[in-house]
Amino acid sequence: MSFFKKDRCKICKERRGHRFCLRLANNICWYDCNKLRIDLKCPEECSYSLQQQDNFQLKTKADSQMEYTDLLKKQIDKWISSSQKVFNDQIPLQIIETENGKKKIISFLNQFKAHPLVPLSYLKERLSLDDLEVDSHVKSYEDISMEFLTTIVLHEWENSANFLQNSTLYANKEYLTNYIQRLSSNMILAKMTEFDLISSASTKQNDQVLVHFEVNRKYDLTLNLIKIDTNWKVVSKIFSKPEIFNNEKEAIQQVAVLLSKNQLSNAYELLKKYSEIYVDSADFHYYWGLYYSFSKNNKKAEKHLFNAVEIDPDFTEAKGLYATILLQNNQSERAKTIYLEIIKKNPKELKSMNNLASIYIEEGDKDKARELLERCLKINPNFMYARKNLEKINTEQIL
Ligand SMILES: [Zn+2]
Repeated sequence: MSFFKKDRCKICKERRGHRFCLRLANNICWYDCNKLRIDLKCPEECSYSLQQQDNFQLKTKADSQMEYTDLLKKQIDKWISSSQKVFNDQIPLQIIETENGKKKIISFLNQFKAHPLVPLSYLKERLSLDDLEVDSHVKSYEDISMEFLTTIVLHEWENSANFLQNSTLYANKEYLTNYIQRLSSNMILAKMTEFDLISSASTKQNDQVLVHFEVNRKYDLTLNLIKIDTNWKVVSKIFSKPEIFNNEKEAIQQVAVLLSKNQLSNAYELLKKYSEIYVDSADFHYYWGLYYSFSKNNKKAEKHLFNAVEIDPDFTEAKGLYATILLQNNQSERAKTIYLEIIKKNPKELKSMNNLASIYIEEGDKDKARELLERCLKINPNFMYARKNLEKINTEQIL
């Protein structure tokens, strides 16, 4: 037995064995669990056991909608090929040999309202019931997650941005280029050829979900999606199990504390570790920016701060620091644009107003500078930096 395959399913030996099967006394995958439990012979003590079935209703545990739907398909396969009391012990697959028989089955199916997860279209197809009316399938968050991952497998980087919460932002070429660069330089994503859905869980309000995958039979990947109106949108990817999702805040806190104590090498280690997990965290990119600015590596600081801004354009602190670093990197035009964006969004962002005024003073545009500084002081008459800058202009004018 290969050491590296230790965590695989005992039956297929390919997918991850993420659940313990009491029948086999071994770990198996949900696909194989479904194949087993459909015969109703699993011990009752197992929470995944299937004890009773009523046509297309199953009372059991499933870790995802996909798993439950797969189980229902197996149930449908069983149902259509075994004799049914409602049809005087006839077998549906035989009943449909006559047009009359098909009508009989359709009218039976029309009697009850099926649970939305029941794959009626599968039943329709298996029994060639062309006249059965089936509601069109509404895409679930699992469908959306898989479509999103498929664009990545196909290296359709640009297309993948359409699945994101901030998708409209990527009409901006600069943001789009940066997003594609971030995505395609992630080695796990760049080399992803396959993914298996392991589980999914939603909040009580059903407005946020975590969908857990295994990528290339090796890596954990959890997608975080939220519901906007009626559409599911991808917020972030986490290279770990879903339970790690809630630890992000604490991880950020740890890094922030180390940086505030100027413990740079410790901060570096933690940043490296966490940013490989929380790849879409604007916070970790922001702290990388801080780290590199402390380490006097402004080029790298600039790159990470733009990542933070691309991920979260409303992240004022990251944007402000980004503009400061741009200025230090002799890109004053771009810094001005960023400051203007910040002020437009937050008309009371004094620090950015004062910094922008400083650029105007540097450029000899005193009128623009004065206007900004006076606005600053109107908001907060005690804002020292603006006061000093304004004094500077006035003294220069006297001289
Ligand atoms: Zn398996």
